[in-house]
Amino acid sequence: MSFEILRSSCVRLGEPPSQLGNYQKACETFRWEQAEQDLDGLPAGGLNIAHEALDRFVAQGLGEQLAMRFVARDWTRQDVSFAELAEISSRFANVLRGLGVGAGDRVFSLAGRIPELYVTLFGTLKAGAVYCPLFSAFDPEPVQSRLEIGGGRVLVTTRSLYQRKVLPIRHSLPRLKHVILTDASGSELPSGTQSFRDLLQAADSTWQIPPTDPESIALLHFTSGTTGKPKGVMHAHRTVVGHSVTGRYALDLRPGDIYWCTADPGSVKGISYGAIAPLVNGASAVIDREEFDAERWYRILQEEGVNVWYTTPAAIRRLMRQGNALATSYCFSGLRHIASVGEPLNREAVLWGRDIFGVPIHDTWWQTETGAITIANFRGTRIRPGSMGRPAPGIEAAIVRVSRPDDDGKPTIEEFLPPGREGELALKANWPSIFCGYLDDEPRYRRSFAGGWYLTGDMARRDADGWFWFVGRTDEVIKSAGRLISPFEVENALMEHPSVAEAGVIGLPDPVAGEIVKAFVTLEKGATGDDKLALQLISFTRRRLGAALAPRVIEFHDELPRTRSGKIMRRLLKARELGLAESDTSALESRR
Ligand code: ATP
Ligand code: MG
Repeated sequence: MSFEILRSSCVRLGEPPSQLGNYQKACETFRWEQAEQDLDGLPAGGLNIAHEALDRFVAQGLGEQLAMRFVARDWTRQDVSFAELAEISSRFANVLRGLGVGAGDRVFSLAGRIPELYVTLFGTLKAGAVYCPLFSAFDPEPVQSRLEIGGGRVLVTTRSLYQRKVLPIRHSLPRLKHVILTDASGSELPSGTQSFRDLLQAADSTWQIPPTDPESIALLHFTSGTTGKPKGVMHAHRTVVGHSVTGRYALDLRPGDIYWCTADPGSVKGISYGAIAPLVNGASAVIDREEFDAERWYRILQEEGVNVWYTTPAAIRRLMRQGNALATSYCFSGLRHIASVGEPLNREAVLWGRDIFGVPIHDTWWQTETGAITIANFRGTRIRPGSMGRPAPGIEAAIVRVSRPDDDGKPTIEEFLPPGREGELALKANWPSIFCGYLDDEPRYRRSFAGGWYLTGDMARRDADGWFWFVGRTDEVIKSAGRLISPFEVENALMEHPSVAEAGVIGLPDPVAGEIVKAFVTLEKGATGDDKLALQLISFTRRRLGAALAPRVIEFHDELPRTRSGKIMRRLLKARELGLAESDTSALESRR
């Protein structure tokens, strides 16, 4: 395990100091109550995400500032100011009221990165209803199941998505009363749908957000479905306090920044950090309407003058695969901070970022359930490549040994483990962005807590200086010959081999050891996946990790199964390997 410390090279000459300042001091002085007071609160009382993200800037005379810039396939740009987004979302709140939609009702969107999606988000929040995004790439079945269990009353989508994905299943959704199409009106409208444009035009542009209880539900997000059936996770308006604070400290956002979060708005990341966190911090969000393309991405970073960039390890690794020559033909002088989330970020990728962009990539850890970043490597502080980082100010984290009597039993924390020991990552359940329930699964929600701590379901360890290191999800950690093996550690070692692009590691049942390690590997261009390379990789990882951790079997693949949010689905690798049922595959990126 590398304990190399990088003195973060982020704060370059002429650049502003990090917003966090001294980490220890920031943690000691931080108070959530104060963070909440730093927000405006509604004039009518309470706390509403849309007011904090939009209306208060307009009230402060900052409405002309750029809120979002949409970059189309042909590079045309569409700019939307805070005032425009505030006004159009107010119209949408009026539309919802006109449809009889109000507090607690659920409004879904099924769309790509289009302005109407963000109007729906903020308009829904202004109306006191609950917003839930769906991935536009979903097949009809996951659209159906999520709308059904989420009790969707309104759906905002495009005409083409409606025809392909909603029409075939609409008859099975009696609770879905209103379907609003963003790109059709008049005779173009299929029966049973309404026009977004026409409804907005007819609606009043003023809306006073009613008093909003900070505890009232604002957002419903489905988890990625990496380890099983996706869970519906609910968040209250108070989550905005966490978005504000972590946007400032973990992403180093400041007013006027150009910020780019590459996450799809069908995910919690694309909403919390693609829209809410930047706007609450007065930054401008760049929204690329296209999917990943290395040249396009470098061009966006350069031409938009992106200051802060939030992306994923999968995307970073795809960029790395394109080679450095392409990257170095662009100039990234505006880039001040880069962060990543979703999967472990291997050491190599952190350092590659430093070489190419002049700033290392800062790993951050959080979940749909935590609602906001909870552990991070912070700009301007020392970072340890390969580590998740340290708890954000206001977050208390521990590594614990938990006993779970059975699937339905209440868990108990048996022991708080010292540095160096592996155990479950637990977070003191006292920050505002923590979820307030699993949809229709109160018992599961209760089973996620023990003695005032939230049990994350991830295994990790803390080093003597307080950095956390991801080990694996509790149900993906491999138990072999009496020891726990982190799939990530093995994947990381494999990825240090020049021929390996990516790796997914699982445990296979073994009569002697309990489990043995098997790796599924994709290769860099030009490498050949034959027995010789497999043996080389086995001895390469043995030298790095020792015989106990090195894979016994290596299999080469052209690609690995991923969730829509880009995570390797080890449970599918395992199910396929063992000939077991694949269970819920609704979150799978591409079916093979
Ligand atoms: P499901 O709960 O449906 O199985 P999921 O856990 O992948 O899906 P998310 O809430 O989107 O759904 O992802 C959170 C999980 O992603 C974390 O629990 C962790 O396992 C993983 N993760 C997120 N960030 C990191 C990171 N920086 N390092 C390692 N793992 C990470
Ligand atoms: Mg999860």
